[in-house]
Amino acid sequence: MDFFDYDLSLGDEQREIQKAARTFAAEVLRPAGIALDRLSGREVSAPGSPLFDVLRQASELGYTRLLGPEALGGLGLSPLTAALVLEELAWGNLGLAAVFFLAGTPAQVALLSGNSEAIEAIAVPYFRSSDGSLRGCWAITEPDHGSDTLGVMRPELVVKAPGQVVARREGDGWVIRGQKSAWVSNGPIATHAMLNVHLEPAAGLDRGGVCLLSLDLPGVTHGPALEKHGARSLPQGELFFDDVHVPRWAMVVEPDAYPAYMENHLASFNAGVGVVATGLARAAFDAALAYTRERVQGGRPIAEHQSVRARLFRMFQLVQACRTLARGVWTSNLTLLETSGRMRLEHSIASKVFCTQAAHEVATLAVQLHGGNGLTREYPVEMFLRDATALTVADGENAYLSQIGAGILVERQA
Ligand SMILES: Cc1cc2nc3c(=O)[nH]c(=O)nc-3n(C[C@H](O)[C@H](O)[C@H](O)COP(=O)(O)OP(=O)(O)OC[C@H]3O[C@@H](n4cnc5c(N)ncnc54)[C@H](O)[C@@H]3O)c2cc1C
Repeated sequence: MDFFDYDLSLGDEQREIQKAARTFAAEVLRPAGIALDRLSGREVSAPGSPLFDVLRQASELGYTRLLGPEALGGLGLSPLTAALVLEELAWGNLGLAAVFFLAGTPAQVALLSGNSEAIEAIAVPYFRSSDGSLRGCWAITEPDHGSDTLGVMRPELVVKAPGQVVARREGDGWVIRGQKSAWVSNGPIATHAMLNVHLEPAAGLDRGGVCLLSLDLPGVTHGPALEKHGARSLPQGELFFDDVHVPRWAMVVEPDAYPAYMENHLASFNAGVGVVATGLARAAFDAALAYTRERVQGGRPIAEHQSVRARLFRMFQLVQACRTLARGVWTSNLTLLETSGRMRLEHSIASKVFCTQAAHEVATLAVQLHGGNGLTREYPVEMFLRDATALTVADGENAYLSQIGAGILVERQA
């Protein structure tokens, strides 16, 4: 079904771009996502995996470079148009939308840094490439530091313990040593990383830095792909750094700027998760609506039963609410970044938490409306539910993020 987009302010060009993304999502991403969901994590990221063909196609269409400037090879979409596309890609498959979104992370960070060497080495090649051969990741969490790597902008949440990836100065550059967690999205297939490092081991995690680097440097090793429950088309795995030498320019953020930088970074990622959760919720709603119109029980299609209709309408409300909140927050925060350099993290967290919980509720209802069929692989709704569960933890577990959001909110009002 073509879910009605009630935003009448969208122009013809935006609707065309949205429609093209919807077609790609339906014809390429949905079948590829289901096929990848059935492979092991190792198979998904192994050479020859169907993942690389999908990634190449997405890259040719620019879906890995939605926000990049046209002059460099990006699509140069406005924040709202990029949100329209991202929602469609996630409707097709959540994990693949995440692969594409994350691939551009180091390049986007390089651009934002304004550092000409980082732009030349990391951003320019990425935006010029359209075959999916350059793939970024954001490596922040560590075996012993998950949530607490994200709360560094909140003094009450800062952990006074050493991080597990440390960078030390040596000569005119840096030497990096340590390990990131098995949850680094795109980790097993990444060619480049935005790497969060700890720069002052005697201090807390708020004295960190952000480093941009190519993962083919000597001393970098990729761990095996993680075997997991949801978002299975998104390869995840550890990264190991054994005295990896990077030049001075690679450290694009140093400790004094780190907490504020991470506030913006988390705001942009949480806003993005709100948008992809909306696409996923829509996918579950569409599947449930189609199924309940066809499945006959009690002598008529189950969509004619009042309690089924009530559940469908609850799903519809949630999807509409997600769409409004996720688009609004994403558009507002990306615009604020351009105009003032500072996003509103509490809004992004509100969107991330609300939309992922809503997607989870919608996917749960979709499974229930499919009855026993909802638990089989013949229908995609059980995959949607697993993907929605993964989203409640990705980019910060919801309860932990809510602590960050509440802290900022209360202080801003005071
Ligand atoms: C689909 C997916 C994608 C991901 N992508 C990436 C990625 O690209 N890069 C990356 O580096 N990582 C990634 N992660 C990791 C993710 O950021 C972490 O899983 C998440 O931040 C939670 O950390 P943790 O798993 O260590 O859980 P923990 O931090 O151990 O948390 C476990 C529980 O304890 C609670 N808790 C923890 N600390 C506190 C506290 N101070 N106060 C109250 N409650 C607390 C949490 O709310 C949670 O319920 C991804 C995870 C998933 C599921």
